[in-house]
Amino acid sequence: MLRWALIQAADNTTLRDLTRNSRIARQVVDRYIAGESTADGLAAARSLADAGIDLTLDHVGEFIAHLDQAQAAADVYRELLDRIGDDGLPAGVSVKPTQLGLLLDREVCTNLLADLAKRAHAADVHVTLDMEDHTVTESTVELVEEAHAAGFTNVGCAVQSALHRTAEDVRRLTRAGASLRLCKGAYAEPSHLAYQRKPDVDRSYLEAARYLVAEGVEPRFATHDHRIVAAIKREAALLGRDRSTYEFQMLYGIRTDMQEALVADGYRLRVYLPFGEEWFAYFMRRLAERPANMIFFARALTGALTSP
Ligand SMILES: Cc1cc2nc3c(=O)[nH]c(=O)nc-3n(C[C@H](O)[C@H](O)[C@H](O)COP(=O)(O)OP(=O)(O)OC[C@H]3O[C@@H](n4cnc5c(N)ncnc54)[C@H](O)[C@@H]3O)c2cc1C
Repeated sequence: MLRWALIQAADNTTLRDLTRNSRIARQVVDRYIAGESTADGLAAARSLADAGIDLTLDHVGEFIAHLDQAQAAADVYRELLDRIGDDGLPAGVSVKPTQLGLLLDREVCTNLLADLAKRAHAADVHVTLDMEDHTVTESTVELVEEAHAAGFTNVGCAVQSALHRTAEDVRRLTRAGASLRLCKGAYAEPSHLAYQRKPDVDRSYLEAARYLVAEGVEPRFATHDHRIVAAIKREAALLGRDRSTYEFQMLYGIRTDMQEALVADGYRLRVYLPFGEEWFAYFMRRLAERPANMIFFARALTGALTSP
């Protein structure tokens, strides 16, 4: 219920402005977001790269209202691709299809993605399409299939173990040759489409992970769940899968202890690094995942409301 309310709050501009104006609330935000400018994002990326961590850079933004926002987002990604190449950063990019206008004009979205995929391909950079809510699952899967059909084998997407359809999507996209990021799913989805209980989401994750360890193309296991990480390591060792052929992924600012331990143990780790001005929806999803943060954040906001 609380999770649902927080995810709905992702659209609340009053709450966003209040957060911007509270110093303590901003400290909570800064834990999850690497700053608002491209320079902030690249500086954070460089310092993680120096610690042996690979990155996927996310210029935050989603469900845009006007197509010029899609063009502006694509411009930032073009700049990022240039900088990744020039600076030799071990980084890919993560893009939300609705940020490229998927729900406004499918053709514009397809063309912008094709341009980014082409530039990324030339620079040997991987592009992951983030998986958003269920209204765009099928079209996101199709975008990946279309990219592969056009020769852009460097394009993959996230798949969410919370969704009933994911076991089939994992097989469908693996057949297409796509490298997939397996995550649990950050959106509140209806019960006819998604598992509602955590044990069911976790079981579904483990089943998909087992398939990807055996059959996946450079699978990307995105989770901070230490039991799942341990299970994947075991399964990969059992099947003799080399550590260089799969990776773990974690979010900027979350379980940095586990991140460091994985790198120290010789596993590949990629951190998802979000930056940009439109951080509010991303931030609300992170709060929804952790009630303790939410309580701290709510106190900070209450302070902002009552302070002069
Ligand atoms: C690299 C990456 C990319 C992702 N991309 C997508 C995507 O494209 N689409 C999508 O729907 N979802 C995405 N997610 C989010 C994902 O779906 C989950 O909502 C999120 O990762 C929490 O699930 P978990 O696997 O960490 O397990 P959980 O069981 O939720 O958490 C395990 C442990 O991780 C820690 N933890 C988890 N979340 C937080 C938090 N917010 N703050 C502090 N500690 C926390 C806690 O210690 C917790 O006990 C992504 C996640 C990662 C790591």
